[in-house]
Amino acid sequence: MRMAGRNFLFVPGPTNVPDRVQRAMMVAMEDHRSSKFPELTRSVLDDLKKVFKTETGSMFVFPSSGTGMWEAALTNTLSPGDKVLASRFGQFSHLWIDMAKRLGFDVQELDVEWGTGVPVEQYEEILRADKEHRIKAVLACHNETATGVTSDIAGVRRALDAAKHPALLAVDTVSSLGSIDFRMDEWGVDLAVSGSQKGLMLPAGMGILGVSQKAIGCMEGAKSRRCYFDFGDMLKANATGYFPYTPSLPMLYGLRESLDIIEEEGLENIFFRHAYLAEGVRAAITQGWGLKLCAKEPKWYSNTVSAIVVPEGFNAAHVIDVAFRRYNLALGAGLSKVAGKVFRIGHLGDLNELMLMGAIAGAEMSMLDIGIQVTPGSGVAAASNYWRTHDPIPKKRVSREEVIYASQQMGSVN
Ligand SMILES: *Cc1c(COP(=O)(O)O)cnc(C)c1O
Repeated sequence: MRMAGRNFLFVPGPTNVPDRVQRAMMVAMEDHRSSKFPELTRSVLDDLKKVFKTETGSMFVFPSSGTGMWEAALTNTLSPGDKVLASRFGQFSHLWIDMAKRLGFDVQELDVEWGTGVPVEQYEEILRADKEHRIKAVLACHNETATGVTSDIAGVRRALDAAKHPALLAVDTVSSLGSIDFRMDEWGVDLAVSGSQKGLMLPAGMGILGVSQKAIGCMEGAKSRRCYFDFGDMLKANATGYFPYTPSLPMLYGLRESLDIIEEEGLENIFFRHAYLAEGVRAAITQGWGLKLCAKEPKWYSNTVSAIVVPEGFNAAHVIDVAFRRYNLALGAGLSKVAGKVFRIGHLGDLNELMLMGAIAGAEMSMLDIGIQVTPGSGVAAASNYWRTHDPIPKKRVSREEVIYASQQMGSVN
């Protein structure tokens, strides 16, 4: 049956692609070896650096999703058998560990409670004890999308520095880049793995990597097999403004437009907007519905995704199914260990208060439909209270003078 109206997409990736980006991607194909092509390559690679907050790092874009960039990061800088330190606290941190093992690295894996994040103190202890510097890379998932947990990457850098440890710092920023503050240079991140379909508001299909000069220096000695994702081939071609193989033009034009949008709003304003919107969603969950987040403490709360624990005796997959089939609302599923226990609301990318009100209202109606006892309207009311009483997104505040001006324009008597 046809579903009228818009589909409400609130999975934490892919996110809503702005109309401007969609239009920018509707292009005729061009010669990717023309003399004009390097302008596009250079402009996107340069502007991406601002989003990663790096001046010294190199930017790579590959036809891939985020997962491929996990592989590129590891195989370009490590040799089989190299020791890697990593922690598991959700499906994405788990999958990166799984990949590292399958690629033949010796992974020291720390299992920590889901709902918490990178155990910085434990990292420091292990790094201090590793006097021979056998650990070659430290992996950290900045934003664990499965549980809605953000980790302290500056803290991981401090742990490495305190232990005077030279290991590379590799960070998954797939669901944080362009929505939660990330500082590649300041935090000394050597490999920043990202993708196109979350904060960058594009379709999936482009893997994006920020690589420090230190990590580039590891390339020569890294004996892992690699071919399509080889940094060397890409650096050589990018130096002249081209790619070693046919790049996806629509994706590059889409990225150009999304970088323009980010520049117009301002990166810091974007972080502020995500924090402010996330607080409203959390108000709906905890104050309105009286439910718990999967994230154990406020210090772990993610500003891009909230995982909501459904009460005992209910299946979260049921909420998601009703939301989709009855209300045309896509919520995020619980993955692996938290399957059936949580559903997720993605609050990242191109969105505002009222779009989120749709997601909150729809989640609430779906919960009521399957018998979860939340008070009708309570989520929306709590979010409304939060957003109305807190500073709106900078520059969006409407002053009294402006309101009066607007009413005069309409010929109002007051
Ligand atoms: C989405 C996501 C990935 C996987 O990215 P794909 O583009 O699906 O390959 C990896 N890590 C995190 C934290 C993510 O949110």
